[in-house]
Amino acid sequence: MKIRILGCFGSRIPGRFTSSLLVDDKLLLDAGTISSALSQKEQLALEGIVLTHAHMDHIVDLAFLADNIFGRPESMPIWAPQPVLDAVQNHLFNDFVWPDFTKLPSKGEPTIKMIPLDDSGSGEVAGYRLKWARTNHPVHTVGYCVQGSDGSMFYSADTSTTDDLWQMARGCEDLKIAFVEASFPNRMENLAKISGHLTPAMLQQELLKFGDRDIPIKVFHMKPQFLEELQTELAALNDDRLQVLDGGEVFEV
Ligand SMILES: [Zn+2]
Ligand SMILES: [Zn+2]
Repeated sequence: MKIRILGCFGSRIPGRFTSSLLVDDKLLLDAGTISSALSQKEQLALEGIVLTHAHMDHIVDLAFLADNIFGRPESMPIWAPQPVLDAVQNHLFNDFVWPDFTKLPSKGEPTIKMIPLDDSGSGEVAGYRLKWARTNHPVHTVGYCVQGSDGSMFYSADTSTTDDLWQMARGCEDLKIAFVEASFPNRMENLAKISGHLTPAMLQQELLKFGDRDIPIKVFHMKPQFLEELQTELAALNDDRLQVLDGGEVFEV
């Protein structure tokens, strides 16, 4: 499994981009960064996109992707739980904010095709076995376990404290790598809880639910304005598994 980090921050400033992970050059986890990182050819080669939730920093580049792949013979599948798809349809592809690419160029052969993930918590997408579980975030959000033929990866999405997500993470078979969020510094724990996020200290507690698995844990979704503070606090956790992402990394696991 090859994972390329197109974006790994909770907002954007020059050189720092919002969350998007590209798996094996074909499957995207979240759509916070596509058009500024992938060439036209790479965008056309995508086999689908899995969304964790409908917050802007995770969907914004769907708008430009739709324009850039317009005219591709096959529709681009977007998988997510129904409430997430509803939010994207009603608030982005609504013919007001942006054209409704689920009906363009035609209803029968649209640019984008929304495919709901049901309540079973597992299914198949683009040749991967997918598991999902709700996180603790103000809007409907799920984290994922993505299992390929040579192992699996865990992606927490945006979350505050939760048990369901970590139960799913423990059930990821042949887990090779994990991506977890830390958005605000410890002094902003109150804001982290209200906005459904984690601080380094909260992440440390959450990782106890993950067990003592000896796999790389990559930290993403830092708010760029607090990056230095977050790096210091995450380093102070003295957990050798942790690495703070910067964007552009490629991991082969
Ligand atoms: Zn976010
Ligand atoms: Zn969010």
